[in-house]
Amino acid sequence: MPDENQQQPPQPNPERKTLDDRARMTELERLRHSCAHVMATAILRLWPDAQFAYGPPVENGFYYDLECSHRISPDDFEQIEAEMKREIKANNPFERIEVSREEAQRDAKRGRLGGLTERPNNPSKFKLDLLQQIPEGEKISYYKNGDFIDLCAGPHVMRTGNIGAFKLTTVAAAYYKGDEKGPQLQRIYGTAFKNKTQLDEYFKMLEEAKRRDHRKIGAEMGLFAIDPEYVGPGMPLWLPKGTAIVEELEKLAKETEFAAGYVRVRTPHLAKEKMYLTSGHLPYYAESMFPPMTLLEGEDIARRPVLREKFQEDLHSGAVLTPEKIDAFIEKAYHVFKAEGLEGDRYYLKAMNCPHHHRIFAAEPRSYRDLPLRMAEYGCCYRYEQSGELFGLMRVRSLNMNDAHIYCTEDQFASEFRAVNDMYLKYFKIFGLEKYQMRFSTHAKEGLGRKYVNEPELWLKTEDMVRRVLQESGIHYVEVANEAAFYGPKIDVQVWSAIGREFTIATNQVDFAVPARFGLQYKDRDNTMKTPLCIHRAPLGTHERFIGFLIEHYAGNFPLWLAPEQVRVMTIGEDQALLDYAQGIINELRAHQVRAEADFSHNPIKAKVAEAEKARVHTMLAIGPRDREGGNVSVRLHSQGHVGARPKDEVIRGIVEAIRDRRT
Ligand SMILES: [Zn+2]
Ligand SMILES: [Zn+2]
Repeated sequence: MPDENQQQPPQPNPERKTLDDRARMTELERLRHSCAHVMATAILRLWPDAQFAYGPPVENGFYYDLECSHRISPDDFEQIEAEMKREIKANNPFERIEVSREEAQRDAKRGRLGGLTERPNNPSKFKLDLLQQIPEGEKISYYKNGDFIDLCAGPHVMRTGNIGAFKLTTVAAAYYKGDEKGPQLQRIYGTAFKNKTQLDEYFKMLEEAKRRDHRKIGAEMGLFAIDPEYVGPGMPLWLPKGTAIVEELEKLAKETEFAAGYVRVRTPHLAKEKMYLTSGHLPYYAESMFPPMTLLEGEDIARRPVLREKFQEDLHSGAVLTPEKIDAFIEKAYHVFKAEGLEGDRYYLKAMNCPHHHRIFAAEPRSYRDLPLRMAEYGCCYRYEQSGELFGLMRVRSLNMNDAHIYCTEDQFASEFRAVNDMYLKYFKIFGLEKYQMRFSTHAKEGLGRKYVNEPELWLKTEDMVRRVLQESGIHYVEVANEAAFYGPKIDVQVWSAIGREFTIATNQVDFAVPARFGLQYKDRDNTMKTPLCIHRAPLGTHERFIGFLIEHYAGNFPLWLAPEQVRVMTIGEDQALLDYAQGIINELRAHQVRAEADFSHNPIKAKVAEAEKARVHTMLAIGPRDREGGNVSVRLHSQGHVGARPKDEVIRGIVEAIRDRRT
């Protein structure tokens, strides 16, 4: 049950970090969190009544939530940054002071925590609340830099001077503890780095990412459209040019999987409630699924007149419908339907393909000879993401997934897992991904039976196998304890685009619980029935996420094999022989499945080239009378310029081969 739709983890709802989390904080996170203390110091110098709540490091920086009589805007940043620089220049140590709970409570009541001085009429109310969340028996500590004292368990850098370079970025509204009923706070975001060069590089990368925004380039190139009014938000329509990319990716996946011994299946987009109760998606995952559709059919429909009778009174009462009346009516309808046994069948749009694949496994008797069974489908799933979280192709409600489930025995697991790994490496090479990382999440013994399925030996064994494969393949990976899925260890695959931005593209998961819940079995050599393990894998993630990533990675300048328009043939001149020659080239290219288009318009060649460049056509073939006479074409490559006149057959052969080999 991999969750490929998670782009970046949503901004964590502030929740107190455990000591374990803190011990895992990287050097950069410590630096950024320390910078939040420095920012608070600066804000208090300007607005002494400020009360601070949470100030954790986040991806790419830090924030601190505060309540303050002054409404902080980006116009204030310069002034705050100037104060921060002073604090950094002072190079104050971050001093750790351990206190008793009583001392901390007393200081908080006096407004001293998250403050520069005591503030008798302005108690540190959020810190008081935070104090209550510190488990009994855990040490309570302050961190002090200059006059600023904060309730904090750390860790920090040694001195304020260790913060090499920083910048405040945005201000946003936030609720205390993410609770809409709680007090509204101001959240100031910033980022910090070890030095100015890294900070500058980061902002340059953001600038470049903006230029490469997949929504912008997608619209310029006519790849996809989102139609919230008629189709619905978060459900991209693939336009012909985007579809060309989608189909190239599917072709790549199908060829690769076929060669690796996969079989292909196709499944409907819906399934009955029972499916998801069995898989465990319901009720736990219900919030991420579209609401069910209720279907009444057969005999139930025949009983409709009986039902109508029961509602006669309501229908003819002529009463004005108020929300209360409607609610009462719904309530009554529910009871009447229930009493008549007319709940109908509930169907859900599938949020994952696994359950359908499990039912395919169950559709025929299986023996050990059938294993490993590698079942692949580019399946279309639907997930309910809140409208505020939808983002272009990156966070969507309909997604096409490069899915497959590998059913295997324990003995087969290591080699199957290795083959999946190799497939990733092959793809990384094709797409020119030089930087990637596998994030390997394992279980924690304490969580067995609660957070993790209670199979202590199987956990250790599979984790061991996964670890060994990762080590042997020399792949770059990090291991994180206590973040596995309920059903087994998982691996998140992170890749970096050409401009150094990180994306989580796919999740692999080992599953040793759900096959049993579906009663999946095979007959082993010794005639006993056994439950297979299942590996979920989706190296190309979803079309939506992956193409969004590729647009940024290539800045829309796709390699020939992926380019929506691979070749454009442009004429210089208008005589019939020339047009026939040009059309002949297009016909030949299209016969080889090359996406070749014509520009035989009257426009001057300069204008034709400019237009093709703008459309990011990969290869432009200009054809004038001299080319025709010599059996040549003049080749021009997108954003590389003129290559020169070449024999027509050689050029066509070159194009066909480059596409076949998926050259970058
Ligand atoms: Zn799955
Ligand atoms: Zn701190």
